[in-house]
Amino acid sequence: RIYRRAQFRLSAPTPADLGPDEGVEVAFAGRSNVGKSSVLNALTGQRKLARTSGTPGRTQAINCFDLDETRRLIDLPGYGYAKVPQAVKRRWERALPDYLRNRQSLYGVVVIMDVRHAPTDLDLQMLRWCADAGLVLHGVLTKADKLKRGAAHNRLQAVQRATAEDGVTLPSVQLFSALKGEGIDELTGVLDEWFAV
Ligand code: GDP
Repeated sequence: RIYRRAQFRLSAPTPADLGPDEGVEVAFAGRSNVGKSSVLNALTGQRKLARTSGTPGRTQAINCFDLDETRRLIDLPGYGYAKVPQAVKRRWERALPDYLRNRQSLYGVVVIMDVRHAPTDLDLQMLRWCADAGLVLHGVLTKADKLKRGAAHNRLQAVQRATAEDGVTLPSVQLFSALKGEGIDELTGVLDEWFAV
């Protein structure tokens, strides 16, 4: 499995610092503290690949992890953290849609949301930016261990309805729990298709 071979390559202050626009990359997006690092760590089987922390919003950089010479995972900065300075927020509000639209090697985006909450305005904005950029989307509802099974499954439909109401189709959405190690195979299956493994 290529995900286990993920290796940190660089931390880019802006999308322009990501390196050559070649090969295929898949980006991971989500509100800060949603559990994005935990998803990446569970996917790669590396406990410390992406830094998890109780302090949200510390990294406002894009982290790049190589899977092999042509494929990579991109960890986008967590959004929605109140303490990020306005100037930094404004910079990303321009840089991010620009990256999503213009990065040729970017194939799809995994948007991570908390299973317990409806998509936030920022989630919907991110989904819309991706859809407008013609990118493939996959939703991951994480921390699924926090809800009973039935309730968690109901959230899948609720999220698809909420995004559809907002004019975005989420072709697939899944439950995930980094804590329980659940949903890794399903996510791997989606990424395998995207990367054409
Ligand atoms: P990030 O800021 O989006 O990268 O989020 P982290 O991966 O650092 O996780 C934020 C917090 O949520 C941490 O305290 C994690 O332990 C917790 N967390 C992440 N994933 C899960 C999960 O699947 N289940 C539960 N119960 N907690 C989780």
